[in-house]
Amino acid sequence: MTSHDPLDLAGIDDLLSEEERAIRASVRALCAEHVEPYVADWFERGTIDDVRGLARELGSLGLLGMHLEGHGCAGMSATAYGLACLELEATDSGLRSLVSVQGSLAMFAIHRFGSEEQKDAWLPRMAAGEAIGCFGLTEPDAGSDPASMRTRARRDGADWVLDGRKMWITNGSVADVAVVWAQTDDGVRGFVVPTDTPGFSAPLIRHKLSLRASVTSELVLDGVRLPGDAVLPDVVGLKGPLSCLNEARYGIVWGSMGAARTCLAAALDHAGSREQFGRPIAAFQLTQAKLADMALELTKGTLLALHLGRRKDAGVLTPPQVSLGKLNNVREALEICRTARTILGANGISLEYPVIRHMNNLESVLT
Ligand SMILES: Cc1cc2nc3c(=O)[nH]c(=O)nc-3n(C[C@H](O)[C@H](O)[C@H](O)COP(=O)(O)OP(=O)(O)OC[C@H]3O[C@@H](n4cnc5c(N)ncnc54)[C@H](O)[C@@H]3O)c2cc1C
Repeated sequence: MTSHDPLDLAGIDDLLSEEERAIRASVRALCAEHVEPYVADWFERGTIDDVRGLARELGSLGLLGMHLEGHGCAGMSATAYGLACLELEATDSGLRSLVSVQGSLAMFAIHRFGSEEQKDAWLPRMAAGEAIGCFGLTEPDAGSDPASMRTRARRDGADWVLDGRKMWITNGSVADVAVVWAQTDDGVRGFVVPTDTPGFSAPLIRHKLSLRASVTSELVLDGVRLPGDAVLPDVVGLKGPLSCLNEARYGIVWGSMGAARTCLAAALDHAGSREQFGRPIAAFQLTQAKLADMALELTKGTLLALHLGRRKDAGVLTPPQVSLGKLNNVREALEICRTARTILGANGISLEYPVIRHMNNLESVLT
């Protein structure tokens, strides 16, 4: 008998190794125990209960800086990291964001561009989830165009002094360390800023209707004085932050397919059980056409993610290829979630089901 798993019509599972499937199963189990039962409530209340405890759980499974080598990081493959992102985002994009910002942005920046002292000081604690990191690039007047940033770092004797504001910073208010990008006389540089440094504050951004189970903050830098060795020594210019964003966007290529998978599963379940006109709505061909298109796009997007993951593991993945994957997969995931929303009818707008939560989350992911 051929099995027809509607969530894996093409048999993509057969392309994964035993180890990859085992990693995926453990991430799925963590999400099922520690996040899934609570996440709709967190979303509704706009908070994550015990984010530090959650970070430690994620750290204990090696999910923080999972694809980085050494300094306490798990050193797994890029494909395994992608599979983890898919499972995390199948639960909630906010959970995947927590892990992406920690591992692909804050830890990656220190790992790639930091001094041995910076790596020793932060990476083992961040990998274990004992320290939370954030990544401050975007500003109120500098989003797509980070070169126009106004945050400035100036030399004062041996020290650096930072002034400016960052906006939309994931994990900001709960972070122990912020990687902050600022203009200097030599170009854009990155700084490792312990968040208890005087002059640093991170007010919470409220009123979000997307990624509500995720901490989003402003960073205010008001004469933040740092020692000379707080600068990331190994990069000058925007290629620093842009290479970090490339890592995070790789995780989104996979993660978005997780949100899509959850919404397809909810739509299939509902279409099979909801009866109208004396039949399950899945018996109507217009509903079947929707489900078929959703399954098709999920299959294509997951295959693309796997292809890009294998290229990353082979060391030949390019930034345009990551952009290709992110553009397609987020666009299609959003479409899958919106279509699922229609299949659920009125129930589709309720947090009793995961669909509108994922749909709203993906608006941030798309941005
Ligand atoms: C929930 C959430 C979490 C985030 N977390 C972080 C974080 O941790 N760290 C961080 O640094 N940032 C973070 N961001 C910020 C995110 O990176 C920015 O929102 C993104 O870079 C877009 O910038 P913007 O919002 O200022 O939009 P803008 O740059 O103002 O863009 C607005 C619109 O104009 C379009 N546009 C811009 N330039 C062009 C152009 N040249 N041609 C055509 N169209 C153009 C854009 O595509 C978009 O449609 C987060 C954002 C959100 C929503």
